[in-house]
Amino acid sequence: MTEPTVYELSSPGRVGIEYAHLDVPPSELPDAFMREELPLPELSELDVVRHFTHLSQLNYSIDGGFYPLGSCTMKYNPRINEVTARMPGFLKVHPLQPIETVQGSLVVMYLLQETLKEITGFSAITLQPAAGAHGELVGSLIMRAYHRSRGDMKRTKVLVPDSAHGTNPATSSMAGFTPVNVPSDARGNVDIEKLRELCDDTLAGLMLTNPNTLGLFDEHVLEVIDIVHQAGGLVYGDGANLNALLGVTRPGDLGFDIMHINLHKTFSTPHGGGGPGSGPVAVAAHLADFLPDPVVGILEEATDELPPLYGFVHPPQSIGRIKSFHGHFGIIVRALTYIMMQGPEGLRAVAEHAVLNANYLMELLKQDYTLPYDRDCMHEFVLEGVWPDAEGVHALDVAKRLMDYGMHPPTNYFPLIVNEALMIEPTETESKQTLDVFVDAMKKIAKEAHEQPELLHEAPHNTPIGRLDEVKAAKDLVLCCWRPEE
Ligand SMILES: *Cc1c(COP(=O)(O)O)cnc(C)c1O
Repeated sequence: MTEPTVYELSSPGRVGIEYAHLDVPPSELPDAFMREELPLPELSELDVVRHFTHLSQLNYSIDGGFYPLGSCTMKYNPRINEVTARMPGFLKVHPLQPIETVQGSLVVMYLLQETLKEITGFSAITLQPAAGAHGELVGSLIMRAYHRSRGDMKRTKVLVPDSAHGTNPATSSMAGFTPVNVPSDARGNVDIEKLRELCDDTLAGLMLTNPNTLGLFDEHVLEVIDIVHQAGGLVYGDGANLNALLGVTRPGDLGFDIMHINLHKTFSTPHGGGGPGSGPVAVAAHLADFLPDPVVGILEEATDELPPLYGFVHPPQSIGRIKSFHGHFGIIVRALTYIMMQGPEGLRAVAEHAVLNANYLMELLKQDYTLPYDRDCMHEFVLEGVWPDAEGVHALDVAKRLMDYGMHPPTNYFPLIVNEALMIEPTETESKQTLDVFVDAMKKIAKEAHEQPELLHEAPHNTPIGRLDEVKAAKDLVLCCWRPEE
């Protein structure tokens, strides 16, 4: 990869395409559209297939191996989801077609709306948001619209616990609020006393990631919600971690007012590498009128002869449209397929196994790593990747060394409240054998950290490239690595 001569495959005159026979008279393109110099690589079809296949093999994927990236829920994506998403009736429709011609697609959206409402315990929902963080922005805008509609203009403060996902303070400030940090207590819950002190008549709401980024369910969640409601605020639930709760508890029943759901995490659609995702936002009854416009609904009830007519309804105090057309429809089809394949018992089993797998790993790994919040976890947990007697070894070294053992590293340096954090989420789809291989590797690494720290410092040893300058990679993004030879 680093040698441009190896990478350069182009050979003058080689062609990889064949044009179809012309069935219309040929015509010349206008000169203005013609370019003399168009330095594209010249390759055969096979060259191109091999090139992209090799590139794809350099990527680590859930189809290739264990992927315990905390907070990302990298579960297996069942192939049946791809089959339904590619059915021509779903694939080849246009969002601007008359509704009478796309009833099947509207039924899918309606069914997913109803199913997600049932799963989460909320009254109304939008499928428009493109991903989780987009859903948070939508939820924050709904929060703002709600207070404004009551003439309650001084509510500008949104409380965000320090165990929240990093997108929470970002999205609340994008919606015009001032995020204010709430510390966690020694057990990883929201600090109730600090919360009380911060609740006043400028409070717009609280954004609670539950389970939080420590993988812990807040033990006082009902009290937290009550305190915020007493102060006139709304409670936003970051539901990206819903995998731990499916079929066990419903955030709507706990008293949350708004919550987003990450279809691409909990409901198993491929993610990583930037999308596409889908982040539906569910709300309690008193916020239904503020949802983005439009929402799928029943326009005409079924009669003896006809099925119902599905179409679009318009929430009266809507915050407006927040996504072109109707969201990421392909992801919506995949998520509904997944839910229907699981059924209610299957969904509950997802949560139970995700939690069981995480606790299994946690119990075995806390023998070798510091576990700062030592209590039963939900779907993930956070270790420290550092030891007082292994000088110079950091979480990053552990993560890089794990790549040598053929596994994707856990999430690093997040959450910020844990020193040298390693955030591990195995998901329910991994077998005990795979979990044991991971434990074995992590234990070996802990031993190496003490006995051969240089092995960790220099890792990874057997990947195509070693350590990247991640800051430079983000700040100086190079999206096109191929240039024609001069
Ligand atoms: C992943 C995640 C988000 C953000 O979701 P995206 O789809 O990546 O925008 C927000 N909160 C939590 C807790 C998450 O795990």
